[in-house]
Amino acid sequence: MTARILVVDDIPANVKLLEVKLTAEYFDVVTASDGPSAIELAHSQAPDLILSDVMMPGMDGFELCQRLKADPETSHIPLVMVTALSDVADRVRGLEAGADDFLTKPVNDIALFARVRSLARLKQMMDELRVRQAASGNGEMLTEADLENDSELGDAKILLADSSETLAGKVESYLAEDGHRTHHVKTGQAALALAQAEAFDLLIVSLHLGQEDGLRLCSQFRSQDDTRHVPILLLLDEEDLPRLPKGLEIGVTDYLIKPIDRNELRARTRTQIRRRRYHDKLREMLQRSVALAYTDTLTGVYNRRYMNAHLDRKIMEIAETVKPVSLLMFDIDHFKSINDSHGHNAGDEVLVELAKRVSRGVRDIDLVSRYGGEEFVIVMPDADVEVAVNVAERVRALVSDQPFTVSGQVGELDVSISVGVATTRDPTETTESLIGRADEALYRAKGRGRNCVCSAELDQLAQRHAPLPAAGE
Ligand code: GH3
Ligand code: MG
Ligand code: MG
Repeated sequence: MTARILVVDDIPANVKLLEVKLTAEYFDVVTASDGPSAIELAHSQAPDLILSDVMMPGMDGFELCQRLKADPETSHIPLVMVTALSDVADRVRGLEAGADDFLTKPVNDIALFARVRSLARLKQMMDELRVRQAASGNGEMLTEADLENDSELGDAKILLADSSETLAGKVESYLAEDGHRTHHVKTGQAALALAQAEAFDLLIVSLHLGQEDGLRLCSQFRSQDDTRHVPILLLLDEEDLPRLPKGLEIGVTDYLIKPIDRNELRARTRTQIRRRRYHDKLREMLQRSVALAYTDTLTGVYNRRYMNAHLDRKIMEIAETVKPVSLLMFDIDHFKSINDSHGHNAGDEVLVELAKRVSRGVRDIDLVSRYGGEEFVIVMPDADVEVAVNVAERVRALVSDQPFTVSGQVGELDVSISVGVATTRDPTETTESLIGRADEALYRAKGRGRNCVCSAELDQLAQRHAPLPAAGE
């Protein structure tokens, strides 16, 4: 994986050192010697990660971080503070400013690359979601900062796997200050069972779980569907730091060194919860926009574009299935007068109820779609002329046999539809041609007095013999 990294430090030797290390690992490195130029580069170079010094003249690392995180164009870029200070108070200050992590000078290579890789990976995944969300064009652009004041950020459900009651008591009380509920378990097995039974927002795992290896549990969490995307915070002792890269590689999201500092735990928890909820919201918006792309918003049935693509596929499949595909096209009779006499809202209610009735009246493999205003199309694979005409007749009756109930003064309305049916056995017939034939049949049904069914194929036969009486008349 290649990523672009912005290194910010006022001392040239420090910049050079990191630049050499990162370039050797094939990262693309950009450098800045102060806050203002770092902000400029964050905009112009779109780095995947920023490594910033804390002590700098003018704008220090905290302020730089705060500014980048407050700007919607740069807030999504992970920022790691590189600091000589190992003071917990400074770490907490950095986290409050929005920093994603810390590295202590002199920078340990293993920790550096592990952190850089995992944060860059996370950023690229988020970018992908952001791009797709933007491409979906629904206008909303959610940023992580939007969730900052979200009241939902409290009240998270947290699973803690640790063998010590004392530590659990502390964690529980610290997190309760932010309104989070902690569920404590002592073994990996208990943790897995609980995480399968209930959904959690964050998993906190100790590296030493009694005799068990906490990393094994982390890896199991990552391999299971229920917990694959839940952030994991690893608790470890200073002397266990060499095992951290392995943990990050497995998918641990963040870590905390014992003894646990109350504010650091709260700040890291807050960051993880915020990011998780941001991720969930992005996903949800994406799913909604995907659904919007293929369904009709008023009636919930498929839209014309999706139906066209589906019909294309079904006709092509005839080459293998050797089974006919039929199409029903129907249109509400005198719909304009329903609108005119009862209002557009009443008309909309009729459309919704109609789509429901019709969808209930067809097989699961049939696809109901709204073709346009008050026209619908049903694609029916594996249905010959007779089957299709029977279904069309059933659908017609489902509409006209029972009046529609419309809200307000209107009450009940009699509604009917006219249906055109076309069938093909030819895998080379185009969708346009099949739809065209159904449309012609529909036109004939209208001509025959409405509330009836006409089939392209049967009518042709009928015309050669004798005129068919219109159904339903
Ligand atoms: P016909 O029996 O020949 O089909 O007569 P009709 O009145 O149904 O046909 P026409 O095409 O003249 O009118 C269709 C009407 O459907 C006109 C349009 O305003 C209305 N319409 C189209 N889309 C919608 C919609 O989404 N909601 C509502 N309420 N009305 C719609
Ligand atoms: Mg109509
Ligand atoms: Mg019409």
